[in-house]
Amino acid sequence: MSGFENVKGIYFDLDDTLLGYWVASKKALSQTFEVASPASVSPAQMLGYWSEAFAKYQTEIKTPEWYPGYLKSGMQTRNEQMRRALALAGIVDEDRVTLLGDTYGRLRNENLVLFEDALDVLNLLQQKYHLGLITNGPADVQRQEIAQVGIEPFFDPILIEGEMGIGKPHATVFDRAENAWNLRPHEVLMVGNSFHHDIVPAMKRGWLGVWIRRETDVPPGKTSVESIPENAVTPTATVSSLTELVGLLS
Ligand SMILES: [Mg+2]
Repeated sequence: MSGFENVKGIYFDLDDTLLGYWVASKKALSQTFEVASPASVSPAQMLGYWSEAFAKYQTEIKTPEWYPGYLKSGMQTRNEQMRRALALAGIVDEDRVTLLGDTYGRLRNENLVLFEDALDVLNLLQQKYHLGLITNGPADVQRQEIAQVGIEPFFDPILIEGEMGIGKPHATVFDRAENAWNLRPHEVLMVGNSFHHDIVPAMKRGWLGVWIRRETDVPPGKTSVESIPENAVTPTATVSSLTELVGLLS
């Protein structure tokens, strides 16, 4: 028995589970640096500096210096990454920081699209299951993404790190999610692309976990998808599309 026959509620992650975040981000970065890089730095160089800055800044976002601002709005992070990319190019220019940050934020949102099977899959699953969303990130960015692709009506609850003040993989978030439906752990399934944020905490709690791995799920500056760590929990299943998920549930 796989356990899928017991599932009554499904929580989805958002970024790179239902929509292509990194594809949109990388497209937007290229477009941004094409139109708004300083004259002395090529777009390719700026992308390199941005990626270098990103690798370091990612480790700092959850620190007290940055986290409270990050929860509220994506602007601080966008601008700080541009500030650091410019600094690596030897440039200090706050007007340029704002121009690059704003342009990137706007273009990333415009480039966001659902994976091509997402709407069909959500329409199908909502007939049989509770559907919810658990997503990390700033409140404004996450709400904007959900609105941009029009999926809000599918989900109740929608749990956003920026609104809760705490995010995955914290157990509190999964507590809250489970209690919202009054289901038992083995009746809840988590579907997500992040092994550490989605799959590990769900499996530890006794939920089922479907890890979704796509070739497009690669941040700027990286060349491959996340790999499974040694001695880690084993997902209930691993899939490469949402359509494959439907196959497991039927
Ligand atoms: Mg994700």
